[in-house]
Amino acid sequence: MEGPGSATLVRVTTRRPFRAKLATTVSKGAAALSRATGRGDGSVIGGRLGLIIDPDLLAHLATGRQIALVSGTNGKTTTTRLTAAALGVLGPVATNSFGANMPTGHTSALARAGDTPYAVLEVDEHYLPQVVASTHPFVIALLNLSRDQLDRAKEVAMMAQLWRDALRDQPVHLVANADDPMVVWAASVSSDVTWVAAGQRWHDDSWVCPECGGAITRASDDAPDADWYCTGCALRRPTPQWTLDGDAVVAPDGTRLPVHLQLPGRVNRANAATALAVAARFGVPPADALPHLAGVASVAGRYAQVERDGRAIRLLLAKNPAGWLEAFDMADRAPTLLSINARDPDGLDTSWLFDVDFAPLRGRQVLITGDRAYDLAVRLDVNEVPFQHVTTFSQALSAVPPGRLEVIANYTAFQDIRAELDRVN
Ligand SMILES: [Zn+2]
Repeated sequence: MEGPGSATLVRVTTRRPFRAKLATTVSKGAAALSRATGRGDGSVIGGRLGLIIDPDLLAHLATGRQIALVSGTNGKTTTTRLTAAALGVLGPVATNSFGANMPTGHTSALARAGDTPYAVLEVDEHYLPQVVASTHPFVIALLNLSRDQLDRAKEVAMMAQLWRDALRDQPVHLVANADDPMVVWAASVSSDVTWVAAGQRWHDDSWVCPECGGAITRASDDAPDADWYCTGCALRRPTPQWTLDGDAVVAPDGTRLPVHLQLPGRVNRANAATALAVAARFGVPPADALPHLAGVASVAGRYAQVERDGRAIRLLLAKNPAGWLEAFDMADRAPTLLSINARDPDGLDTSWLFDVDFAPLRGRQVLITGDRAYDLAVRLDVNEVPFQHVTTFSQALSAVPPGRLEVIANYTAFQDIRAELDRVN
């Protein structure tokens, strides 16, 4: 196995053909122009132009680098950020930190990265096969698969099949979640897997075995890392090499690594475990990576904390049912503002609200807002969670006592609140 800094790592720029060099220059120029004119970070337009000039640009830019891909329904932006931080022990790391997680974003991230040999790329789960084919990654982290936007995303089992087909016979090391039966099934076509007990709180997309259609049984419905097995075939939870124990991650050699993150919740300690497992594959000792993980304070505004009028506001993004369950677990038992929109980036169908059990919010002061606050009102009423409707963020602030205010919002609702808080980060 090639180690970091190995002589077999070719200098990245020297092997790139002329067309790729031109495309890279145009891509970087367009991205810079886009940023300068205030049209966002430019990663999509820059990548798109580069790919028009050289359709193989992503492959050319990937040549000679050791690349980790991170994919899954939830947690991929955060895990990408943590993994890039951990690999930072080795030197500069190319990454698509702005969440542009399709090939145009990857192209742009590598184009502006110079010749650093390391890259960590967040990959939209639909694009994983294409990006694997283009970048020949060194490691792929597979986090979880669950239902996402109902009117757009593929069925979960179809996605697992797509991954399984893409991973078969690939010379790549997988770091995969042992607690998600769909991920385990997809990854089990490979014999080169490190299993992480990354947890699964949302079970409603994995009661049925993707291999045989049999029922999947769990030792516990509450523990996110409980043992599970299929009652009809041999599919069962693999023994994880990396596990969580309270506030610590336990490494394959049994070393207990206390993880002190600024990001909340078990799910982020699990994301840290995945990052450590990927980094270990690159030769980074976990103890060296830990301080880098602790330095991550927010990820594209998520988890950001803002003081306003004596309230310590924390922003949590939740885009789908599994994400909402995790957000309830991450949030302190404090006043909580929920905001839901159903604009295009959110998905137009809000019926998923009825998939989520809002009972964990009982006993907290709950406020609701957003374009679809009334959908949320109906849902909370069914769940017997008392709530108060507010129309503006400042109204929400004055309705809660000084101290912590948790804000849980879906995509555009989250962006609206960020804008109201002057683009915090
Ligand atoms: Zn089965």
